[in-house]
Amino acid sequence: MGIDYGQLHDPNADYTMRELSEETMELTRSRGETRDVSITDVQTTMIDGNFPWTLVRVYTDAGVTGTGEAYWGAGVPELIERMRPFLIGENPLDIDRLYEHLVQKMSGEGSIAGVTVTAISGIEIALHDVAGKILDVPAYQLLGGKYRDAVRVYCDCHTEDEADPEACATEAERVIEELGYSALKFDLDVPGGRETDRANRHLTDSQIDHKAEIVRTVTERVGDRADVAFDCHWSFSVGSAKRLARAVEECDIWWLEDPVPPENIDVQREVSRVTTTPIAAGENVYRKHGQRRLIEDQAIDIVAPDLPKVGGMRETRKIADLADSFYIPVAMHNVASPVATMAGAHVGAAIPNVLAVEYHSYELGWWEDLVEETVIDNGMIEMNERAGLGITLDLDTVAEHMVTGETLFDPA
Ligand code: MG
Repeated sequence: MGIDYGQLHDPNADYTMRELSEETMELTRSRGETRDVSITDVQTTMIDGNFPWTLVRVYTDAGVTGTGEAYWGAGVPELIERMRPFLIGENPLDIDRLYEHLVQKMSGEGSIAGVTVTAISGIEIALHDVAGKILDVPAYQLLGGKYRDAVRVYCDCHTEDEADPEACATEAERVIEELGYSALKFDLDVPGGRETDRANRHLTDSQIDHKAEIVRTVTERVGDRADVAFDCHWSFSVGSAKRLARAVEECDIWWLEDPVPPENIDVQREVSRVTTTPIAAGENVYRKHGQRRLIEDQAIDIVAPDLPKVGGMRETRKIADLADSFYIPVAMHNVASPVATMAGAHVGAAIPNVLAVEYHSYELGWWEDLVEETVIDNGMIEMNERAGLGITLDLDTVAEHMVTGETLFDPA
């Protein structure tokens, strides 16, 4: 049987195709109008939390406003004010281009690392909130969609006496049982044991024994109920770090964080290679370029970027992608308000290799009041269908906790 060319050229079929084409064109036109948006202003308000949180607002001529947050650091609001003219009139949907634009424009101020990158991070997060709202999609959708419907949160824990192993173990149980977390972190750069000279970074055997006792007491009491990490805050010499990491190998901890200073990647790798204790680092280096050698040299077992410091949401995604090509998971360092914590959750939802996002404010008492929505519930952040970051600032709470001398940014 041959082809019925008459049917293919059915005038009615052609008519239908023309109609569809008109419809498609109309849809394209209306979307084009939605996407013809300009940034009209950028403002900041600093909150006096357990860290100074710089909230960033990007305003547009579409009546849509986005909120971001920059990690703390002297001069961050001033740097954002410096960048304001580079953003006015630009299309907020071009997130990647605007990020690179700011990096280039601020190269003189030092946009390879430090507070300039922190300031750019706050703007970049706000752009994701704006873009999601304009396109009516959650921010994770802008990053490629979801791997998971909820992102795990780990709770940074503190006690009155951080050097007391039993006090740490009791607090671990309380956070598991009362707050619902299954992932915890404690500080391990605490006093205890015979100290000789802190400046030389050397740990005596009795100091190692004391730290191992904290780790053992907490992990034994917690059992299978939670994963527990321990943070050393870049404190120890390479030899001491190796001895400490080996001394806690039997405890099966989640990770040992920053046992040595952050500058020397070769030393970082040396420590990671001699122990089965997983070593995490990364909160003190910036952008994908700063994280690259940590990952490519396999100097760490877990990478720990701080999203509102390292460069923002897409930069964290890029770091996570690089880490994933070396089969390295991501634990997001985070001391932020609900704004950047949600940004972390959106990235965490959109990357394969996330372990968890940190929560560092359980002693504050009003962290969750900053936004109208529930953020952390039972140690998890549920992702939802709300556009952008999916949160609404409670401006009364923001105003109540502003740093002295701050003025509140425009409501919308
Ligand atoms: Mg840390």
